[in-house]
Amino acid sequence: MRLSRYFLPVLKEDPKEAQIVSHRLMLRAGMIKQQTAGIYSWLPLGFKVLRRVEQIVHEEQQRAGHIPLLMPTLQSADLWRESGRYDDYGEEMLRIQDRHKRDLLYGPTNEEMITDIFRSHVNSYKDLPLTLYHVQWKFRDEIRPRFGVMRGREFLMKDGYNFDLTKEDALHAYNRHLVSYLRTYERMGLQAIPMRADGGPIGGDYTHEFLVLAETGESEVFYDSQITDLTFGDRQINYDSVEQCQAVLEEFTSRYARTDETHDEAVFAEVPEERRRTARGIEVGQIFYFGTKYSEPMGATVVGPDGQRVPVHMGSHGIGVSRLLGAIIEANHDDRGIVWPEGVTPFHVGIVNLKQGDNSTDSACDAIYAELQARGLDPLYDDRDDRAGAKFATMDLIGLPWRITVGPRGLAANKVELTNRRTGATEEMSPKEAIARLE
Ligand code: ATP
Ligand code: MG
Ligand code: MG
Ligand code: MG
Repeated sequence: MRLSRYFLPVLKEDPKEAQIVSHRLMLRAGMIKQQTAGIYSWLPLGFKVLRRVEQIVHEEQQRAGHIPLLMPTLQSADLWRESGRYDDYGEEMLRIQDRHKRDLLYGPTNEEMITDIFRSHVNSYKDLPLTLYHVQWKFRDEIRPRFGVMRGREFLMKDGYNFDLTKEDALHAYNRHLVSYLRTYERMGLQAIPMRADGGPIGGDYTHEFLVLAETGESEVFYDSQITDLTFGDRQINYDSVEQCQAVLEEFTSRYARTDETHDEAVFAEVPEERRRTARGIEVGQIFYFGTKYSEPMGATVVGPDGQRVPVHMGSHGIGVSRLLGAIIEANHDDRGIVWPEGVTPFHVGIVNLKQGDNSTDSACDAIYAELQARGLDPLYDDRDDRAGAKFATMDLIGLPWRITVGPRGLAANKVELTNRRTGATEEMSPKEAIARLE
């Protein structure tokens, strides 16, 4: 993309409404625009990162054997009356009436709808196990939407639902989700710690929240510092193996790590004092097993091996896709702007032309730009007629991991500069070498 043809409305001043750094940087980098409280437009740069985050979520869900579909944002209130949640859910639910005075709602989550799909089409235990998921906009009328996309009212969530014959099978699905979530967050350059959590309105005894440690996080968390040494890394896992998935769950949940809702001072006191940590965290996902809570009242049953109909065991598993952008920035920035992890960066590299309009500099930049594209990379070329300082500031603000700086003086010796955004390290090399380094 050539910056002169792009739409990147960066702000020079810090917006006053932003209280935390990720919100401030998303506004300044021209990623989002608030339309009304907690509701945002995703401008091109923000939309690009959102799609990259979503893509990683899709890849890791499908790697785990989970099947994508798409349910609508609007739901019939009748479904929620069947489960009993229409009245329970409270004011976070946005209720709507259509012209026929039928009650609808903008879905805050999809347990009822997916259970309805399941019961309409699945009859036999032979069709299990089954995990269906989608990535779709949700609406929750949060009393205090704040921190930009971190606590929006309309937000993008991946929510997946498993259907199994037995509790044992459903717990395997739970473990599969835990593993796939660890992989998902790590690919985004995040450490998200599974912490024992509280069932809340979705219900259920087995539940973990995934928290990214950050001072601006809204949850208070308590953990054994040993947990932060764990990484999933590039180990191979067979998602069909009950033992392998169970082993990962045990490894990642055996140390003390809880949110304030389940925190227990007495148990925490058993952790050696020098390893006890109290901190704040951002909830970027949550997994639940809740058994037959929805399948029973809604009649989602299958015929088992013995010919008897039984309600299926279910769980639901969410990732805050749009919130993740805030969490990634909270964890990856400096005083000049965002520092995107390679896995989610909107462009792989920025090209800065120090002397726009100079024939040889322009054609060197054009050649680098074309060559990077030919190699499947996505460069952002700042081809505007602007001061070098302003171009550098924009590149630093939007946080691309690499910058190639091209000017007439360097070109005379066949050199450009390659700069790493995270370390600031700059090296001189030929354009050819710079391109090869980025592949
Ligand atoms: P919170 O405790 O932050 O209100 P939640 O526990 O109500 O979140 P879940 O029902 O567990 O949310 O939804 C799954 C994921 O969706 C959460 O882990 C979070 O990452 C994301 N999420 C929930 N509410 C919002 C929101 N208002 N804005 C952005 N993301 C959200
Ligand atoms: Mg909530
Ligand atoms: Mg929560
Ligand atoms: Mg939650």
